[in-house]
Amino acid sequence: MEDCLFCKIIKGEIPSKKAYEDEYVYAFWDIAPTAPVHILVIPKRHIATLNEVTGENSDVIAKIYEAIPKIAQENGISEDGYRVVSNCNQAAGQTVFHIHFHLLGGRELTWPAG
Ligand code: 5GP
Ligand code: ZN
Repeated sequence: MEDCLFCKIIKGEIPSKKAYEDEYVYAFWDIAPTAPVHILVIPKRHIATLNEVTGENSDVIAKIYEAIPKIAQENGISEDGYRVVSNCNQAAGQTVFHIHFHLLGGRELTWPAG
């Protein structure tokens, strides 16, 4: 997707602080963190929202969830705990329309979410 911010980050056209990368997944530190560890985990393949996940592309979602525990381990939040959040569309506050999973940790996280 030519106009997608996160596709540009994957291509290196916009700089980011990389946290993890493999064939399917890219992860980078959020520019406006809401926790001491706030990393965005995204598929290299453009998928706009969770509503566009199907049997045809869900393999990359599995790859994301394989990467998350590795990233958590590397950043020291595995044992204390962490949260993974994906906002879908306007009511949930999605602002970038390339599916992404917020990995949040390093502090006590309240529940329920706002
Ligand atoms: P959403 O609100 O769509 O769930 O999350 C989008 C996230 O992307 C936000 O937490 C926001 O801070 C982050 N973000 C937006 N633009 C950039 C950017 O250019 N670089 C990085 N690293 N994060 C960004
Ligand atoms: Zn994209």
